[in-house]
Amino acid sequence: MSARRVRDIEYQLLSGSPRKTTDIVIERDGRVVVRSPASYTAEQVDAVVESKRMWIYRNLAEWRDLNASAVVREWVNGETFLYLGSAYRLSLVSQQDVPLQLKEGGFCLSRDVIERGGTAAARMAFERFYTNKGQQRFHDRVNYYAPKVGVGTAGIKVKDMGYRWASCGRSGILNFHWKCMMAPPKIVDYIVVHELCHFHHRHHGDEFWNEVDKVMPDWRERKEWLRKQGASLDL
Ligand SMILES: [Zn+2]
Repeated sequence: MSARRVRDIEYQLLSGSPRKTTDIVIERDGRVVVRSPASYTAEQVDAVVESKRMWIYRNLAEWRDLNASAVVREWVNGETFLYLGSAYRLSLVSQQDVPLQLKEGGFCLSRDVIERGGTAAARMAFERFYTNKGQQRFHDRVNYYAPKVGVGTAGIKVKDMGYRWASCGRSGILNFHWKCMMAPPKIVDYIVVHELCHFHHRHHGDEFWNEVDKVMPDWRERKEWLRKQGASLDL
């Protein structure tokens, strides 16, 4: 990957792929990533980027709008946190034997956690909560959908995946970001079906979406929800 610049557009070039056309995407972190055919020189790629300038500006502007919805949370009583699409209020509690739990319609965070470790420890308590809940949920939903998609898996992992929601490893393990657990169940299921369908096709071409469509005919709405609301699923 090399960093390049055309006028005011900075982009990262992934060259050498066996593709025939140049593909430009705005990643979830706002980077412009360009994949180009192996036969192209860097100057040729620059020319393609230059010709797509208006498209890139438009999409970067849209990315900024979507990310403006990202929330900044405070770790105080009454702040809300998401779990499976619902918002729950936070209470800081004394005398609780686990760092964080969902109880009586709200998140109860042990006051000790904040007093000893500050917001970093509070954030970690939430990450662990989502990771633990995610392990059970993704295990169940993968088992439910795998036969429908017609694939077998080698198991699931829930972890921090940076700017990706999920991935499907060649070993047959599915990886999911703990942040997925903030999304509504319908969206969690979409992420599961999406990854399972990658066992059939490791790309996002028509054949891939056709597989998704067989199991989840309303996938477009769910995909769009994730695109628009994804930035709000954060701590
Ligand atoms: Zn995918």
